[in-house]
Amino acid sequence: MKSSDLFERAKQLMPGGVSSPVRAIRPYPFYVERAAGSRLTTVDGVEFIDCCLAYGPLILGHVHPEVKGAIERQIEKGWLYGTPTPLEIDLAGTIIEDHPAVDMVRFVSSGSEATMAAIRLARGYTGKQDIVKVEGGFHGAHDAVLVKAGSGATTLGVPDSAGVLADVVAHTRQVPYNDPEALETLLARNEDVAAFIVEPIMGNIGPVLPEDGYLADLREITAAHDVLLIFDEVITGYRVGIGGAQVRYGVKPDLATFGKIIGGGLPIGAFGGRREIMEMVAPSGPVYQAGTFSGNPASLAAGYATLRYLHEHPGVYRHLDEATRAIEETALDARRGSFVRMGSLFKHFFREAPPRNYRDVQECDREAFSRFWKAMLDAGIFLPPSQFETNFLSTAHTRTDIEKIADAYGSCLFA
Ligand SMILES: *Cc1c(COP(=O)(O)O)cnc(C)c1O
Repeated sequence: MKSSDLFERAKQLMPGGVSSPVRAIRPYPFYVERAAGSRLTTVDGVEFIDCCLAYGPLILGHVHPEVKGAIERQIEKGWLYGTPTPLEIDLAGTIIEDHPAVDMVRFVSSGSEATMAAIRLARGYTGKQDIVKVEGGFHGAHDAVLVKAGSGATTLGVPDSAGVLADVVAHTRQVPYNDPEALETLLARNEDVAAFIVEPIMGNIGPVLPEDGYLADLREITAAHDVLLIFDEVITGYRVGIGGAQVRYGVKPDLATFGKIIGGGLPIGAFGGRREIMEMVAPSGPVYQAGTFSGNPASLAAGYATLRYLHEHPGVYRHLDEATRAIEETALDARRGSFVRMGSLFKHFFREAPPRNYRDVQECDREAFSRFWKAMLDAGIFLPPSQFETNFLSTAHTRTDIEKIADAYGSCLFA
């Protein structure tokens, strides 16, 4: 069956025809038959260079031989035991070694679960009720973080989804990104804040990059007010380098959340941080957290193989950085909008200056983005279908792939 027919059928069976909203591309999404390296092949027989990469996990591309081998070897031995496994010690040890702020970790099954648990832990540890997040920051799909952007720091959070209780998000305040003063003002007025959660590099509307000193300011301000600093590194972890944004910018959060890359393409999440905080998690402490699939051996095997590969090939980060720089050069030549990149994260914004925060990103010309996105697809390049999702590269993208992407940017920006 063709993609268009499959989508007609899917719409009868699943809300919007999809398993996650961003996939509901109009008029219909393409259905993938298989993937390998940097390429996706659709059921319609079309091949795309993939710059979406499942929204972040696949830093080594599709079906990387070492990750595939690790999964296959694990599958032979079973894929779910409901008991501890040696593998979780390997992966926990690697994550802890790579992140000076992380003394202990707990594995979960998704990034959403990780931020949900980290927020509960922060509340349990501090005994305080409120949390602060960044406007437009994304931490998954659970109630506490589904707060409408646009409500200011002085107002109570407003639900961003039907079914989320106003009472719940009333405990979530928001401040703009790159605005340490707004956080200082809020914390000076509100003594009931347990944690400030932030994507150190905004990956779900960007990338939008932190200005010089911003992350260090956040560390200082939160510490001065006895508020835990949570870095949500679900995208940035192992993406902007070993140790993620916290090592790259040299700022130690109290807690950090992970997902995506640490599972090598299989479902995973993790949260970790200072020992005295993590010791509060059940069964060693009173903050309850549990999961049937937590630390499942297949995800651990895929994740560990991925992290080992990155450790053994530290040059990949420089290589990926050079690749996005090459794309940037053509995009900038086009003199239309702004281009932002950080290692293998990159995005072209239809707005003159690079955005500093969510409000800036809202000013982008979305229709121009739509035309650009379609033109790129016609040129054989699949970008995330939104002005507000970052693009990704993987180690599987070849020099030829990069040239094709760069050329397509050069022509499609004028679509
Ligand atoms: C993807 C993402 C999440 C949610 O992770 P899921 O595995 O999709 O639940 C949370 N935070 C950030 C920063 C993310 O990019």
